This record gives sequence, structure tokens and C-alpha cells, in this order.
Amino acid sequence: MVQTGSERIVLEIPVHFTAEELARLCRVSTDSAAFGVVEESLDAVNENAAPKAVIKWATVDRVEGDFTTVDGAVFQSKVVADKLKDTPRVFLSVITAGSGLEACGEFDGDPFLDTFNGALLAHATGYTIRTMKERFGFDGSSMLNPGSLPDWPIRNNFTLFDLIGNVEEIGVTIRENGYMKPWNTTSHIHFSGHGYQNCSLCRKYDCVGRRAKFDRNEYVRIFGTEP
Ligand code: SF4
Repeated sequence: MVQTGSERIVLEIPVHFTAEELARLCRVSTDSAAFGVVEESLDAVNENAAPKAVIKWATVDRVEGDFTTVDGAVFQSKVVADKLKDTPRVFLSVITAGSGLEACGEFDGDPFLDTFNGALLAHATGYTIRTMKERFGFDGSSMLNPGSLPDWPIRNNFTLFDLIGNVEEIGVTIRENGYMKPWNTTSHIHFSGHGYQNCSLCRKYDCVGRRAKFDRNEYVRIFGTEP
């Protein structure tokens, strides 16, 4: 773990998967043909993967209407205001699978490359949340992500990056449209709570990645309109 400054922390996330662990993260059954691919690629993944994260404490200065001020920066979002109104302190983060697999050359043209990077991002996210809990006693399992709901668009990444500072240190850059590079990278405000998931307010009803049921009552309460 590399520490820079008093509150900003860079995590270099270890990767020592067993074949079963990597298969679970890839959502591959151990009795499927794809498990053989996971076994064949295991050493290359463990040797070359370089997921990282940068996290930073931030203070919620105030919430007024739809506007939330965090460390002096203002976000406009009904969801952010609703979730942070009773939250004095949050963690900001950018978490990435990194580009170690692309850089090593062993996965050129491999149709499993994106699956492995998705697995690395899931692993890195779990590691980052555990670090918040074990090192700082902070339950950061509730997360808000710019771009996951129309209410808090992707362009809010610019403010989030400015608040964290030097996100490039973990190999992540931000494009003109607010999306991040490498592709398997996510950005968050982590707050204590009861496992809030953006999916509960997301109207992409048939999304295959859905992690929580759509909550119509909560949608109406926060947005004041029918979905
Ligand atoms: S339902 Fe799908 S698109 Fe919507 S927030 Fe969840 S994962 Fe993202």
C-alpha cells in the first residue's frame, strides 16, 4: 500500500487467484468447458494483472435542496443529496482493473480478455471496500457512481477527479466526455448505509447486470415523479 498525503491513499491490489476464485469472478461454472480457458489463463492473469485504486476521505459540507457540497465542490443530484444528507464523511474512489493484461501481450485477440478485466475490477472493488472497513472502520459498501443514473451524469467525474487529485497515478485518465480509460474502471462516492445500489433506481428494467430490484416507491420519493 502506498500512501501519499494525509488522506489520499493509493492501493496496489494483490492478485493471487486460484482457478476456482477466478472462475467465480468470471461467472464461469467449474463444470463448464469455459473453466478450461480459466485454468489455462490463470498464471498469465496472476503474473500480469495490476489492479489499483485511489481513495480519499472527504467531508460533506452541506446539503441544500438538490445541491450537495463535498470538500467545497458542488454536485447537483437528487439521489446524491438524498443519500448524503445525514452523512458527515465519505470516501471518494477510482478503482481500475488496470491495463496489465493488455500490456503483457499474452491476451492479444483473446475473447476472454474483457471477462478477465471485469473479474479484476470486481476483485479490486471488494478489496477496496474491505480496506475501508478493516483499516478505517468505515462501511463504504453503499456507492454512488457518476453516469449510472441520468440524475447524476458522467460529466461529474471531472469534479470527482479534481477532488481526489492525480488519479493518473493509478493509470486512469478521463476523456473529454467524462468516461474513463482503461474501460474497466469505476468511480464512486462511498457512504455508510444499508447497501444502497444504483440499480434500485435505474429504469433499465431488463439489464442483465442488475444487482437490486427496481424500487418504484423509492423512485417516486426521490424524484417526485412516476418512472
Ligand atoms: S440496472 Fe444495469 S444499467 Fe442500471 S444501474 Fe444496475 S447495472 Fe447499471
